[in-house]
Amino acid sequence: MAGEKSGEKKLKSLFTAEQIQQRVRQIASEIDQQYAGRSVHLVCVLKGACIFLADILRHLRLETSVDFICVWSYEQGATSSGEVRITKDLDHSIAGRDVILVEDIVDTGLTLNYLCQLLLRRNPQSLRVATLLDKPSRRIQPVKLDYVGFEIPDHFVVGYGLDYQQRYRNLPDICLLPDAEESERV
Ligand code: 5GP
Repeated sequence: MAGEKSGEKKLKSLFTAEQIQQRVRQIASEIDQQYAGRSVHLVCVLKGACIFLADILRHLRLETSVDFICVWSYEQGATSSGEVRITKDLDHSIAGRDVILVEDIVDTGLTLNYLCQLLLRRNPQSLRVATLLDKPSRRIQPVKLDYVGFEIPDHFVVGYGLDYQQRYRNLPDICLLPDAEESERV
């Protein structure tokens, strides 16, 4: 675990860029093996999963296609509203396709549960879920996760695509954010 980073005040690295890359390569290789001889359709949940998707994609050897869906599940800051809204839907049909939903983090499970139900109604051949991070202690709705980058405790994290009020997505590491009220001063 890396220490505090200069220029990224008060943000402590939880997983370094190297650790993330190593785990992403392992997940991509698992997917390559499990879908051997087939093509896989990756559905990226914007915006947080965009970097995870890009890294998985460049390691996959399978035939792949990609689409994006954008949801709004946190109305403000770090507090879940419990409400999920689609702000950008898929461009292409998923009927008959082997789909992997690519998420940044599963917290209460409300967002993922909503998305899985939505996608299953569109008759994919199969649906699996890859999430970079999993916070199992916060779960309200049970969800089945097929590929998990890292399990983390109940802390708010940023970096590697994850934001706090649209900031910090560009950090190469996954970092712990201090308490929400503190973060305004970070
Ligand atoms: P859930 O519906 O599972 O409670 O929330 C999933 C969404 O909440 C994620 O896609 C993400 O946008 C947001 N979220 C939950 N925990 C965190 C966190 O620790 N950091 C960040 N940046 N977003 C989080």
